[in-house]
Amino acid sequence: MRSFRKELWFNVPTRRAFINITPQVDECLRESGVREGFVLVNAMHITASVFINDDESGLHHDYEVWLEKLAPHEPVSQYRHNGYEDNADAHLKRQVMGREVVVAITDGRLDFGTWEQIFYGEFDGGRKKRVLVKIIGE
Ligand code: ZN
Repeated sequence: MRSFRKELWFNVPTRRAFINITPQVDECLRESGVREGFVLVNAMHITASVFINDDESGLHHDYEVWLEKLAPHEPVSQYRHNGYEDNADAHLKRQVMGREVVVAITDGRLDFGTWEQIFYGEFDGGRKKRVLVKIIGE
């Protein structure tokens, strides 16, 4: 069995963003040489997400509006978590959008459903953060 591990780094200048990281995960898959197996992709920070959905700008806008309704950033005083920090909303948004995804690898390719793409969701940007890519298979 082959095993491959790589960290992808991000430094998003804005507080929130959605970034399609499918090309980077594809590159990891090529580097790994795995033809049949699984890839796990997870955010290594508790204010960022990795999720799968459509790469469609209207949908990404809808996420932003929906998440701000669920967990508005301001007023920051509404959250008990915000003592020295102001990112309670980012923790909540990450919880909703998820920590990780697992994708099957079939015949050397990411075995996606229709329109599926992998995204990094940033909810408290302005600093360096990591995403783990772990691939196992043969
Ligand atoms: Zn926090």
